[in-house]
Amino acid sequence: MPISFDLTDNTRTAQAHYRKMAAEQMRPISRKYDLEEHTLPTEWVDYFWKEGRSGPQGMKLDAPGDGFVQVCVQAEELCWGDAGLYLRMPTAALGGSAVAAAGTPEQKARFLAPFKGEGEPVWGAMAITEPAAGSDSAAIQTTADLDGDAYVLNGTKIFCTAGEGAATFEGGFVAVWATVDKSAGRGGIKAFVVPAGTPGMRLVGCEKKLGIRASDTATLVFENCRVPKENLLGRAEVKKKGPKSSGDKGFKGAMATFDASRPIVAAMAVGVGRAALDTVLEELERQGVALRYDAGPHAQTAVERDVIEMEAELQAARLLTWRAATMMNQGKPNNLEASMAKAKAGLAVTKITQKAVEILGPAGYSKKLLVEKWMRDAKINDIYEGTQQINQLIVARRILDYPSSMLR
Ligand SMILES: Cc1cc2nc3c(=O)[nH]c(=O)nc-3n(C[C@H](O)[C@H](O)[C@H](O)COP(=O)(O)OP(=O)(O)OC[C@H]3O[C@@H](n4cnc5c(N)ncnc54)[C@H](O)[C@@H]3O)c2cc1C
Repeated sequence: MPISFDLTDNTRTAQAHYRKMAAEQMRPISRKYDLEEHTLPTEWVDYFWKEGRSGPQGMKLDAPGDGFVQVCVQAEELCWGDAGLYLRMPTAALGGSAVAAAGTPEQKARFLAPFKGEGEPVWGAMAITEPAAGSDSAAIQTTADLDGDAYVLNGTKIFCTAGEGAATFEGGFVAVWATVDKSAGRGGIKAFVVPAGTPGMRLVGCEKKLGIRASDTATLVFENCRVPKENLLGRAEVKKKGPKSSGDKGFKGAMATFDASRPIVAAMAVGVGRAALDTVLEELERQGVALRYDAGPHAQTAVERDVIEMEAELQAARLLTWRAATMMNQGKPNNLEASMAKAKAGLAVTKITQKAVEILGPAGYSKKLLVEKWMRDAKINDIYEGTQQINQLIVARRILDYPSSMLR
């Protein structure tokens, strides 16, 4: 099936809707919650829960060609508004992606219902990273021991986005990765849904960060935390280490979460980069600097060359993102394309926002504009959901058809 890079009318409607929401609801409070790190942005949370999550009126959410591309368009628009506030929206987020990727229809209905309901705002989160397991997620030390009709979780999870909301507010949940059998390596790693407020799950605190400071990045400790065995996502069976160990559904199912989430992170990066580029263009126009896109390479000024390069980087990142998202819509494996998009967009946004600060000079460095904030918000896109290096490794493995054991 060919891939079209024209957005459908439906998605264009959504784009305009989220662009307005970003400008009117997010930008005015962006600086406030950057300065007041971790404070719950109640006006944004309430607005999103009551009005924002339903999408534009009359929009058909299941029209052909929409779906995942629309999720990426929403991420770009809202992160143009504020990436930290985007991550603080009451949604199932990565926890929901884990349930969608590895859960049964019954689990999807049970765990995702509060996110569609009329009750109080709820959050979802996914906890993989530990003090000694980040890029190498197969090194997870958190254990899940079967005891009667429950799994008992013990371990520490760090850097869990939306972890405070997900662990605290009733109806939310954290999808926790733990091993049921350390001797089985990856085969023993499974994901478990731990509902908010479960005894034994303790919020230690939130990380103070360079950027996306409105986002609650939590440390969670699990001490004899019991969850019903029906909260295991995927199959309980464990495949022992060996040539086929990486074929285990549990670990593979959980890893499939990234094929869905990396294009979203790439789209978030594009949104932050576009915010910075838009400000540069507005400022140049205000100063009466006309950009000559048709000037030959030898006649261009340094600023013209910089802006053209920023625009090209942004377009390239966006097109890779939409390709990876379209493949998801078509049900095609997109592991390579998701990592390509994430690697490209993570680097592009880092370069674009730095260049924007540079072009704008003292105004770019000052807190009078949001450009310095976007430069701080940018870097995380090159770290979470697989660092730049890890996504490049995945791309190399897929292109060369090497297993992870040969290229690590
Ligand atoms: C703000 C924030 C939010 C986060 N949210 C979440 C979340 O919601 N859930 C969650 O589970 N985790 C989350 N994380 C964790 C994030 O996914 C990890 O930090 C990331 O995967 C890197 O792992 P690490 O921190 O252990 O670094 P390391 O793996 O120790 O990496 C350190 C450096 O070594 C490089 N490196 C590592 N291995 C290789 C290799 N094989 N080849 C080449 N270079 C390599 C890395 O690229 C990096 O530059 C978050 C992190 C941050 C900062």
